[in-house]
Amino acid sequence: MNLNFGRGDSDENVVRNFHRFCSAAGFDYSTLVASAQDHHTFVRRVGAENYGTGVWKPKDMKSADGLITNEKDVTLVTFYADCVPLFFLDPQKRTIGLAHAGWRGTAAKMGAEMVNAMVREFGSSPKDILAAVGPSIGPCCFEVDAPVYEEFAALPGIHPEKFIVHKGGGKYMIDLWEANRRIIMEAGVPAENIEVAQLCTECNAQWLWSHRASGAKRGGLAAMMCLKGEKK
Ligand SMILES: [Zn+2]
Repeated sequence: MNLNFGRGDSDENVVRNFHRFCSAAGFDYSTLVASAQDHHTFVRRVGAENYGTGVWKPKDMKSADGLITNEKDVTLVTFYADCVPLFFLDPQKRTIGLAHAGWRGTAAKMGAEMVNAMVREFGSSPKDILAAVGPSIGPCCFEVDAPVYEEFAALPGIHPEKFIVHKGGGKYMIDLWEANRRIIMEAGVPAENIEVAQLCTECNAQWLWSHRASGAKRGGLAAMMCLKGEKK
């Protein structure tokens, strides 16, 4: 089921898919607030005043790969097809965050930007934050050339040798799940608070959208997250 606009399906059909998904998974369509992803690390704080943005109202920003909120009944929405979804919950401050981290966002430490934004905006303590790394291209499939490898090899503080395998011939396998896990830990979130789905989109392309498996002729996944309040 395609949950991305502008990928060849009519907007009407994508909206229909959103309705289907929301009613099946227990989200309220009227409360959706979507990101504006452009592979940067800007984090936007959103609330009820942003209802519909990027889904049933036009986008109003060019760059917001991360969303955070402390309001109930605000459903954060981000989009994927191999890139890494990062989920955050601070049960103490009752706040959530959802971020899109492709390889560029991962190398730019989007995971740490999200933790820092929750600390800054909501007074979260990193040790209280729970995080999850969602389905995305895995270490089995994410092969890169030297320029991408060099971005990851240069990351200070998180031991790139733990998530890069040299294949030879100028090719490298990068484990984006482990890189994100280490980046979130470096920002102060304890290891025991981080879950990794370990589910590769390319290996499971028969039921998850994968850009590497399908190329440009594909739909897209969405991640959603909401603090449940009074609405259904
Ligand atoms: Zn794979």
